[in-house]
Amino acid sequence: MFNPIDWLLGLFSLDIGIDLGTANTLVYVRGKGIISNEPSWVAVDSNRRDYVLAVGAEAKEMVGKTPPNIVAIRPLRDGVISEFDITEAMLRHFIRQAHKQLFIPFPRPRVVIGIPSGVTEVEKRAVHDAAIEAGAREAYLIEEPMAAAIGAGLPVTEAQGSMIVDIGGGTTEVAVFALKGIVVSKSLRIAGDEMDEDIVQYARQKYNLAISERTAERIKINIGSAYPLPEERTMAMRGRNLITGLPEEIEISSIEIREALSRSTNIIVDLVRDTLDETPPELVSDLMETGICLAGGGGLLKGMAERIAEETHIRAWVAQDALTCVARGAGMILENFEVLRATLSSDDRRHPGGSAS
Ligand code: ADP
Ligand code: MG
Repeated sequence: MFNPIDWLLGLFSLDIGIDLGTANTLVYVRGKGIISNEPSWVAVDSNRRDYVLAVGAEAKEMVGKTPPNIVAIRPLRDGVISEFDITEAMLRHFIRQAHKQLFIPFPRPRVVIGIPSGVTEVEKRAVHDAAIEAGAREAYLIEEPMAAAIGAGLPVTEAQGSMIVDIGGGTTEVAVFALKGIVVSKSLRIAGDEMDEDIVQYARQKYNLAISERTAERIKINIGSAYPLPEERTMAMRGRNLITGLPEEIEISSIEIREALSRSTNIIVDLVRDTLDETPPELVSDLMETGICLAGGGGLLKGMAERIAEETHIRAWVAQDALTCVARGAGMILENFEVLRATLSSDDRRHPGGSAS
């Protein structure tokens, strides 16, 4: 129904796309582009968990350094919304921040939110309601692989099949698209975080060295790989020796790190192969032309594309700006709302906006 107040507020309001990632949350504003890119962390008071102390980079900085009365949380860590209230607080923070940054006093935005495809209907409803709570006049959800594919420029609206492999922090999602829809999809809770954990375990088992997740992540980004490198490298790895208790530095090679990561990378490659197994033959033959597109931070792991290409016999490549595909995809939906509306999560097409809930 036409609501003149909403219409008027709408004139001064924003269209916002949000990539609610397990590791990073990005905010896209229609006509402006990406205006915020922060870790998906929230710091709260441990006695009053509804009391939010910091969100984003500021909250992540507090990890490991917090006094006992502050806890820093990643509410989407495994791609499930384990901490609903905290997810809601984070969403509200990012929506308000976008408006503040653009000097808009009363947030009444239309929002498109990318959510991991593994989340349940209940969680979807919860994210939708959180956006409405945070002031959105319309909220739509989109499965992250669909948003990633649109952001990567894949031809999702065409009959020809295409495939995305989005490797994030907590989840890997593989999907095959045709005619604005997801034909086959699979997701798995093994991605970037698990790779960091692989390196932590490896250092402990092989060198009796305790290293932090952050150190592991740095090593992964610098010398980690899924396929032999043209030139293998080494890097200093610092930690605490578990036997002597003293700090120690070890020279670690990219070959060792590849071995450490192989547990996770093998599982991801298997997921891609399983998805291909379930893809109708017509579309598989399309994929041999369109190839496999990698997105997400984990897609940037060196040699991941080569490895997938070798094991599937299908060309694979990394999307341009792989870390921002979902946010840009959500943004493109806002820019071309009528054309791309059909790509939104099916539940949302049935219940558009907040008023329908
Ligand atoms: P999400 O969508 O789940 O928030 P992102 O797509 O932002 O996740 O990716 C975050 C993950 O990507 C982290 O695990 C991070 O360590 C990893 N990552 C980022 N850059 C690289 C890189 N160059 N090589 C390997 N992994 C990377
Ligand atoms: Mg993501």
